[in-house]
Amino acid sequence: MAVTSNPLVETLLAEGRREPGRVAVLWGDDAWTFGSLEALSARLAHALVDGWGVAVGDRVAVRLPTRPEVLALNVACARLGALYVPLNPAYTDPEVRGLLDDAAPTVLVGEGPRGHQVPVVGLDELLERSRTHPDRFEDRARDEESPAAILFTSGTTGRPKGAVLTQGNLVFGCTTLNRAWGIGRDDVLVHPLPLFHVHGLFVAAYCALAAGATIRLLPSFEVGAVLDALAEGTVMMGVPTHYTRLLADVRLTAESVRGVRLFVSGSAPMRAATHEAFTARTGHRILERYGTTETGMITSNPLDGERRVGTVGPALPGVEVRIAGTPPGRVEVRGPNVLAGYWNRPDQPARGPDGFFDTGDLGRLDADGYLEIVGRAKDLVITGGLNVYPKEVEQALDALVGVEESAVVGLADPDFGEVVVAVVVPGPGAELSADGVRAALREVLAPYKVPKRVVLAGALARNAMGKVEKARLRRALEDGTDLLG
Ligand code: AMP
Repeated sequence: MAVTSNPLVETLLAEGRREPGRVAVLWGDDAWTFGSLEALSARLAHALVDGWGVAVGDRVAVRLPTRPEVLALNVACARLGALYVPLNPAYTDPEVRGLLDDAAPTVLVGEGPRGHQVPVVGLDELLERSRTHPDRFEDRARDEESPAAILFTSGTTGRPKGAVLTQGNLVFGCTTLNRAWGIGRDDVLVHPLPLFHVHGLFVAAYCALAAGATIRLLPSFEVGAVLDALAEGTVMMGVPTHYTRLLADVRLTAESVRGVRLFVSGSAPMRAATHEAFTARTGHRILERYGTTETGMITSNPLDGERRVGTVGPALPGVEVRIAGTPPGRVEVRGPNVLAGYWNRPDQPARGPDGFFDTGDLGRLDADGYLEIVGRAKDLVITGGLNVYPKEVEQALDALVGVEESAVVGLADPDFGEVVVAVVVPGPGAELSADGVRAALREVLAPYKVPKRVVLAGALARNAMGKVEKARLRRALEDGTDLLG
C-alpha cells in the first residue's frame, strides 16, 4: 500500500489511534471514542467523493450548528485535502450567498441559502449516505504548504476576506499551544465555543484532539450547562463574556471548579475587574492569550510563570511579534502560524515583503516582551489632531463606581475631525448621569480624552465571540437608534 503523508490528519489522529477506545467527545449523554470519530471521518470522506466528487483543493462549505459530527466532517475534509469553509449559521442568506460566490464550494453541508446554485446536502442526509461506506479511507497526500481551510474574516472594514490557512499553520498552532498549556491525554476540555471560528475549532477542538484529550462539547454557552461541565473538566477555553456570565452566577465557587487546572480566555480583551473577580471567587488566574483568524495564536501568558493582567503575554515559541513605529503601534507578526494569503485576492498579499503580517491591532511590548493590546487601529480616535486610545478611556470609565462596562468610539465632527463618545452600561441599581460620568473622568484624564458625549445603555452590542461591535455602536450613535444588543 502506498504510504502517503498528510501532516494535519496525522497530527489530529495520532494520539487517538494509540488508544481508539478512549473518549474523544462527550455530547450530552453520548460518548464518542477516538475510533468512532475516525471511522465516521472516513465514511464521510467516501460519501463526499461518491456524491459530489470532492477532490484535493475543492472547497467544502459547512453551515451547521455545533454537533460532534461537525468535527468528523472537518477531519474528513483534511483527509480529502479539501478546503474546509465554515460559515457562521447566524449569517443571513444574502451574506452566505456572497461568501459562496467567493469560495465556490463543490458542496455545502447544512442549510443552503435561497437563490444560490451551490449543491447542498443536510448533515443528516450526508450521515445517512455515509452509513454504507467503509470505516477506512486512504488520506490524500498533502504537505505543510497545502491549503486546509478558508476562514472568512468578519469584514467590519469592507467585504469579508477568506483567510487561507495551510496544514502547516494548523499543525503548528495546536502543537505549539499544547506544549505551552501542557494539554495532554488526561485533560477534559470544557468547550462552549462555536465551531465555525478559529477559537472553537483550531484552538479548542484541535488542541484536544491532537493531545488525545476529551472534549466536553456544548451546543452553546449556557451557564448551568457550563457549570455542570466544569464539575468534571480540567481546562476551559472561553471568551471574556463567558467569564462574566459565570461570575454572575452564585454557583461559581472555588469548590465548583475544584478539578479545573486551567482557564483560558481570548478573542476579545478581558477587563481587569473580571480577572480580579474571578481570582477572588475561584482562586484561579485566567490565562489570557491573543490571536487572530489569519495568524492563529500569537501570544500567551505563561502556564507557569507570571500572568500579567492587562497583557496577553509574550510571543509563543517560534512566533515573532514587533511593533511598527512608535509604541503603541501596529502589532505585526511573523512565523509558521501566519496565513498563506487571502482567497481570490492575489492583489492583496497577506504578508509584507519581510514576511510580517499586520494584525490591525495597536499595542506595546514591555521590557519582558509581554504584549499589551491597546485596541484596533481602526478604532483609534483622532480628535483635534490628538490620539485617543479607546481602551484607556474605557479603563477609566470601568473604574468608576456604578459602571458595569463601557465602549468608546470616535464620531465624525466638523470641528475636531472626530470626537470621543462613550457608551456606558450602569451596574445593577447604579444611578449614573452623563454629566456625572464626565465630571468624574475629568479628574483622571486629560481634557481631550474626556468623552464629549456619554450615552447610558442597557448592554453593549457583541458578536458571537463576545467582541463589542464598535462599527454597530458607531452607526447606532450616528442614527440615534437603539443601542441594546
Ligand atoms: P478574530 O480574527 O475574529 O479572531 O479577531 C481577532 C481580533 O480579536 C484581534 O485582532 C484582536 O483585536 C482581538 N483579540 C483577540 N484576542 C484578544 C485579547 N486577548 N485581547 C484583546 N483583543 C483580542
